[in-house]
Amino acid sequence: MIANYHRPATLEDALALLAGSDIRSIPIGGGTTLSQRNAEAIEIVDLQALGLNLVEQRGNQIDLGATLTLQALSELDVLPPALRSAAQRETSFNLRQAGTLAGTLVACDGRSPLAAAMLAIDAQLVLISALDRSSEIISYGEILPLRKTHLEKRLITQITIPGNVRLELEMVGRTSKDWPVIGVAVARWPSGRTRITLMGFGAFPRLALDGPEPGGAIEAVQFACDTASDEWATADYRKAAARVLVERTMTRISI
Ligand SMILES: Cc1cc2nc3c(=O)[nH]c(=O)nc-3n(C[C@H](O)[C@H](O)[C@H](O)COP(=O)(O)OP(=O)(O)OC[C@H]3O[C@@H](n4cnc5c(N)ncnc54)[C@H](O)[C@@H]3O)c2cc1C
Repeated sequence: MIANYHRPATLEDALALLAGSDIRSIPIGGGTTLSQRNAEAIEIVDLQALGLNLVEQRGNQIDLGATLTLQALSELDVLPPALRSAAQRETSFNLRQAGTLAGTLVACDGRSPLAAAMLAIDAQLVLISALDRSSEIISYGEILPLRKTHLEKRLITQITIPGNVRLELEMVGRTSKDWPVIGVAVARWPSGRTRITLMGFGAFPRLALDGPEPGGAIEAVQFACDTASDEWATADYRKAAARVLVERTMTRISI
């Protein structure tokens, strides 16, 4: 239940609201998750007036504002096409107008194509503490399992991604628009560094490989699917499908 709503005009005001309140005070991006029924009384701090939706290219890095919408991301020319398509695949057209980059990275589960893609390209999050205004840069992979605790009284302001990475995605779902039952995201840097993530199951996407070159990719994704049975598919099905998907993506990324 949303007990109080604030729309601050400055980052400082937003941090002050997040720092002190009698009831739990949390940031809201597009509100597509937060507006769902919830018994807990919360105070929400709407980030939409803070101007955190900018994009800046700095050498080999791209800084993405936390409140960029999924639709804006899906249309952003500076992004690798596979990242744009991950944003588009995340949800329907109407929800993409509201849902934000940071909100999706926080609210996602293991089926999220955008979270799996961001994990593959080793996205870095800029966090600011509402309590002492200190800032830190933390990799998305590091924060994913700890989202609930680590983000308490902290705001994500920016997500930095490499501008020189190649990215390929492949996924299988019940329909072409549905969340994947199994999917892979493969990122390759000019140095040969290769990261592979899996999506389609669990509480968050899984990193299967991070190495100086792609050797062992098939074994790594199969190992990461070892305990991936749930109501949607068995681990054996996911292992077999992941093998095919990783072969396809590795072939495309090597061309
Ligand atoms: C009905 C429905 C079901 C969905 N189910 C799934 C699903 O099962 N799996 C999946 O992967 N996706 C799912 N999605 C899609 C998607 O992940 C989210 O709905 C959406 O993209 C979240 O973005 P938002 O900006 O609306 O988040 P919000 O609802 O605004 O916020 C989501 C969370 O992120 C936090 N947050 C937001 N911005 C910041 C910030 N800048 N700093 C720190 N914390 C922040 C909020 O406090 C909140 O905890 C679903 C969407 C809908 C509408």
